[in-house]
Amino acid sequence: MTRIAFIGLGNMGGPMAANLVKAGHDVVGFDLVHDALKAAEATGVKAANVLTEALVDAEVVITMLPKGQHVLTLWTDILLSVPKGTLLIDSSTIDVESARKAHAMADDAGCLSLDAPVSGGTGGAAAGTLTFMAGGSQESFAGAKPLLEVMGKKIVHCGDAGAGQAAKICNNMILGISMIGVCEAFVLGEKLGLSHQALFDVASTSSGQCWSINTYCPVPGPVPTSPANNDYKPGFMAALMLKDLRLAQEAALSSGASTPLGAEAAQLYALFEKLGNGGRDFSAIIEMFREAS
Ligand code: NAD
Repeated sequence: MTRIAFIGLGNMGGPMAANLVKAGHDVVGFDLVHDALKAAEATGVKAANVLTEALVDAEVVITMLPKGQHVLTLWTDILLSVPKGTLLIDSSTIDVESARKAHAMADDAGCLSLDAPVSGGTGGAAAGTLTFMAGGSQESFAGAKPLLEVMGKKIVHCGDAGAGQAAKICNNMILGISMIGVCEAFVLGEKLGLSHQALFDVASTSSGQCWSINTYCPVPGPVPTSPANNDYKPGFMAALMLKDLRLAQEAALSSGASTPLGAEAAQLYALFEKLGNGGRDFSAIIEMFREAS
């Protein structure tokens, strides 16, 4: 049994903390939002009224927060309260630069650290089937792995500090671009009188195949479990796709990588959000292309 402080008990953090409790760990949680704390308490997480209360005797601290600035502010406070050797794991999706800063802060304080963002969404968080992409030292990864295995089914050590965040934004840039490509193809197919099923049957078994068509087809019918069959309820919200595409663009800019399609995808999702679609599944962007056609 490990004594864990879990900070950030929102849509993802709440169910992740619940799975750690189910596996027999002693989890004390903290969140600024009272309702999130109450919901976590109902799953067996002990609720702390202030951050420092959650940190008492914690061997591992897990953060699951919105953005890089939240992580840096909280890690600054956490590192003032925990003893040397404590392992800090951040599973939020944040920019690579902030992730590397957080590692450096932990290192200066004599603590172990891992960036370990996830994919798999709220469904994966509840089912304990997330994919974790981890960055940090071998020692940090080895310490975190048994806990990550409770919350996920695939755990990949991607490299040193920030490598988990780098893998996450590269993967999601591929996803954003490929979803747009698949949506454009279906809209073109419609204009050419091609049925959705015919295009799916060909593309899903030919060189056009990819996750966006085979598993998450953006039109209703061919893949019954895709959000297109459920009025584009997320799923994966367009606002979160936009967040990840913007993180990829920040990283491309600071590293000098040329990512023209990633830049275009970020602009298209920004427009889609501006039109009031941020809370819908990201595959609903097909409607924007259909309307513009
Ligand atoms: P969320 O907004 O539901 O949860 C974040 C929680 O952090 C909130 O409850 C908020 O109150 C809390 N918080 C913020 N500042 C705090 C502070 N100073 N102290 C304590 N608590 C604080 O977001 P989420 O959907 O759980 O996502 C969390 C992270 O995971 C994000 O970085 C997101 O990009 C990433 N992510 C989300 C999904 C998804 O499908 N929701 C999938 C993969 C990755």
